[in-house]
Order: sequence, then structure tokens, then C-alpha cells
Amino acid sequence: MFIKKVLPAILTIFLCACGSSVPKKTNVLTQKTPQQQPVEKTSPAPQQNQTVFKRPEQITRNNRPTEEPNTNSRPKRPQPTYTPPPITATNSSQLPYRSREYYKFITDSIQYYAKPTYEKNIDEIIKQISLNPSQKKNPAVNAPWYASVNFNIRKPNFVILHHTAQNSAEQTLFTFSISRTQTSAHYVVGRDGTVYQMLNDYVRAWHAGNSRWGGVTDMNSCSLGIEIDNNGNEPYPDAQITALIKLLGHLKEQYGIPQANFIGHGDIAPGRKQDPSKYFPWKRLADAGFGYWYDPYNLQTPPADFNPIMALRVIGYDISNPAAAIGAFKAHYIQNDTSKSLTDYDKKVLYSIYKKYISR
Ligand SMILES: [Zn+2]
Repeated sequence: MFIKKVLPAILTIFLCACGSSVPKKTNVLTQKTPQQQPVEKTSPAPQQNQTVFKRPEQITRNNRPTEEPNTNSRPKRPQPTYTPPPITATNSSQLPYRSREYYKFITDSIQYYAKPTYEKNIDEIIKQISLNPSQKKNPAVNAPWYASVNFNIRKPNFVILHHTAQNSAEQTLFTFSISRTQTSAHYVVGRDGTVYQMLNDYVRAWHAGNSRWGGVTDMNSCSLGIEIDNNGNEPYPDAQITALIKLLGHLKEQYGIPQANFIGHGDIAPGRKQDPSKYFPWKRLADAGFGYWYDPYNLQTPPADFNPIMALRVIGYDISNPAAAIGAFKAHYIQNDTSKSLTDYDKKVLYSIYKKYISR
């Protein structure tokens, strides 16, 4: 009696309490139950005694209005995945204005918004790449789509080196974390040898600007950008260059980047950019296999028909403004003399570098 009448009633109450009695939705065609949708995580609560900036404009002097994050357009992946690190100060006004600690404090807070925005942008790129040729119409194509199965993702083929012209790596991390600067790099190398990676190597950073090298006019699309923390008027510490060389070694091997394709921002933007500065140890990099240098004790006099401007063009310089091209070459290879004319010594150096480029 108990087993026949009471036990089923108890089981029914128990199942109702667990929610299991709700009928499952089933696709009548496939008889399959739809997969459960991932539940979007809510923002992690700030730790006790920790202040987190809610609005990035709080950290600026002119209090520019900034858009609130649009939660509706966030990707479906669990968000956010980033928990702000512990901060000792309770607000930026407690820290010396524009100090390392100041920029670290505000950048740590801004990253709480930057990381979800990064992931949203990546999702948009994936969406674009996911379109096959029949979905992304090209008006010049007038035949059905035949798919090739032989492909992979495009790789960077140049490394462009910059100096930040700022006073700390933290300041640069801040600069690249906010949208109004419209500038970025894949890596930032600190004075103490700390290497930050801000972007996946396969995405296009905004570091080269209006530039040209050889026939390439969109250097951002084919290069990795590395910002070296330096204000432009100081030597580069050994720890920083050691860390940079280690990073370059990894990138060279990972993507098969030729030795000649490790160049400076000033090389690809003559007359517009001068970084990295005259203090940059290009020779040390060339000795390690990144870029070319010359033997100052074994320079040859170029032949009588040697054309310096054409040599600059062969190396890769934009010669539309010949004086600017000479200045860019001298900033890289002569360094202490950045005048816009070539001395006999400069021509010997140019001839030496030119020969390396034509024989590689
Ligand atoms: Zn630069």
C-alpha cells in the first residue's frame, strides 16, 4: 500500500523541487535536445578595501565623456575573464601625477574594460574570416565557388622597432589601453627587461602609420610592432636589450622573418619619424641576427657609377624625398650625424649595407 501510493507521491514532490519535472524541449525533426546556452558571467566583485574606476574619463584631466561599455553587444563567450589585481592606493589622486605608480593604477582599472573590448574585436575578426567566398560576394567573380583545402593564416614578415618617447612602460600600457589614442603595438619592452604582449601576433596593430618600405605601403598589415620604453634622449639599459633580443629570436624563428626585415620606424617613415633614437644599439642587434650592420674597419670605396639614392631604394627606403631618405639612413647607420647629405664615409657605409641587401 505504502509502496504503491505514497512513494510515487513523494518522488513526484522531490522531482518537482529539483526542476526535473519541467518537460524538455525537443526538436521534433531530430529528436535532439538543444544544447544549453552558456550563461554570461557577471563582473567579479571588487575585493574588499579596493577601489575600481567605473569610468575611464575619471583619470583624465579634461574629463572627456567616454562611452559606457555596451553590454548588449558583448560576445557570447563567458565575460569578463579578467579580475583587477590588488591595488594599494584607493584612488589615483593619492599617487604622484604621471608617475609609474599612477599609470599602473589607472591602467589596471582600465584593463577591466579593455580586455572584454579586445575579445569582442577578435570575435568580429573571426566572423569576417568565417565568411566563405560564396558568402562574401566579389562582383568580379562570375562562377560557382570551388573550395581549396590548402591554406593557413597569414604571418607577419617584418618587425618594426620603436621607442615610446614616454617616461615609463606603464604610461605606454595606458596609452595603448584607451581608444582615443588610436595607436598600439604587439609588444612593450620595459627598461628593466619586462616584456608585455598586448596583442596576438596575427592581428594588425596600429604602430607604423603612414609609411613605406620597398613596395609595401601598408606596413601594419605585414609587421609586428615593438615599442621599447625610452624617452628618445637616453641610452637603452642592457637588461632591456637582452630581453628584446630574446623576444626577437622567438619571433624570427616562429614566423621565419628574414634578418633584413628587422628595421626601425624611422626607416619606414623618413622625415616623419626618428625612432628608435640614435642611442639604439643596432650593431648589437645585427650581431645577434636582427638587421644588418657594417665593419667600420673594412669599408670599401663604392664604384664610380654607384648611385646612392638608387642604393637606398634597393635597401627599401622611400626615396620620394631623397633628403629625408638620406636622413633616415644616417639616423640608423651613422647615428651621431643626421645631416641630410652623404659624406664619403657615409657612402662607404651605404655601399656596405646595399651589398648585404642585394646578396641576401
Ligand atoms: Zn614609432
